[in-house]
Amino acid sequence: MKPSGKFQKWLKATPPPWRIGELLITPATGFPPAYSVRHFMDAGEQNLEISVEPLAARTYVKLDRDGNYRNLKGEGNLRRGWALEKLDYEALCLVLNIFYPTAIANWALHHGGMLPIVTFEETAARQTGRYRMVGHATPEQVANVVNKLCHARCLKVPLWRKEKAAASDFLLCPETCNLFISMCRDEMNGENRK
Ligand code: SF4
Repeated sequence: MKPSGKFQKWLKATPPPWRIGELLITPATGFPPAYSVRHFMDAGEQNLEISVEPLAARTYVKLDRDGNYRNLKGEGNLRRGWALEKLDYEALCLVLNIFYPTAIANWALHHGGMLPIVTFEETAARQTGRYRMVGHATPEQVANVVNKLCHARCLKVPLWRKEKAAASDFLLCPETCNLFISMCRDEMNGENRK
């Protein structure tokens, strides 16, 4: 079964509303099924900027609530105040993929036991140029970055770190991101940055 089919099956089997990361998904009555997506903290909010255009999600994913560029898609800092409505299933999947790229596919693969996991050592060994040094990071330096970045800022479960995901965890991380590698280099150089 395709990842999107598996997710559709999960939606049918799981009572709404549904939560994925900071997103709250609710169904509208009627046929064909339609969905609405908003920030979970706007659950009961009436005064929202409403759009029925799924690509409007691109506007909401770019900047955080303070207007800063979001350099980590899994970070729990989405801005509030908007709602995407009257989405059919395809549009819902498109919206989810804009907010959390590959999340549904990774979730479906992981729970089917087929998501490839790449260890930190493998990712580090592939680095070139100024990031080559990351291949020599100590376990303590890697753990420091996990604490500062993955655990402090990111909503994804770092599977590459052998952390366990529950069936309802949609945000999975099978391989360290570029920001992790970059912060690892900073950690090795004794630099601290956001
Ligand atoms: S490596 Fe850490 S910070 Fe980067 S996406 Fe994965 S869990 Fe998030």
